[in-house]
Amino acid sequence: MSLQPLTIALSKGRILDDTLPLFAEAGIVPAEDINKSRKLIFDTNHEHIKLVVIRATDVPTYVEYGAADMGVAGKDVLMEYGSNGLYEPLDLNIARCRLMTAALKDAVEPKGRLKVATKFVNVAKRYYAEQGRQADIIKLYGGMELAPIMGLADVIVDIVDTGNTLKANGLEARDLIAPISSRLVVGQAAMKMKHKQIQPILEQLAAAVARRR
Ligand code: AMP
Repeated sequence: MSLQPLTIALSKGRILDDTLPLFAEAGIVPAEDINKSRKLIFDTNHEHIKLVVIRATDVPTYVEYGAADMGVAGKDVLMEYGSNGLYEPLDLNIARCRLMTAALKDAVEPKGRLKVATKFVNVAKRYYAEQGRQADIIKLYGGMELAPIMGLADVIVDIVDTGNTLKANGLEARDLIAPISSRLVVGQAAMKMKHKQIQPILEQLAAAVARRR
């Protein structure tokens, strides 16, 4: 019996650089060098497995709607998306970083409403609601560090890895919202209909993750 086709959506950029070696360790290798191609869909060494390489924030959408069967996405993206229709069976333990609040170094937080700039609007709303802190959330698409410098916001909510970006802009990390790493996600339809094909991939990836620990 031939295997049903299976599509895995990968987040491009920084996460991809960590994903490809892990997938190789789990026995899944693209048929050509993804980084040297402008294509978005790639064959692999398994006839039935294809990889699509898309923006990280689009991965949960493709997987939830079943356009891709599985995906790799950062926990930050999944928290923001609110992954209802997704299973998250495996922490791949790659692209680790922290989702944090940050402010201008030594700045004192205002007593009243806090102005928070971020691209993680849903995460920030939830976080400040849990803290019982009144906050106006301002959506930005990048360069969050600029917002406190320009007086647009008191605080930002952003990804911090080394902290160098914050430091270079005169900011400092404040509170940890969540530790972040990339996760394997599987769509509900795929989990039901393609379980036999997904299971061995899950096991190979879990074994590859475990070998690295
Ligand atoms: P750093 O200067 O090392 O703290 O890196 C901060 C910037 O790199 C953040 O603003 C993010 O845009 C990006 N970044 C670092 N690590 C990750 C990651 N694992 N996933 C997504 N973006 C990241």
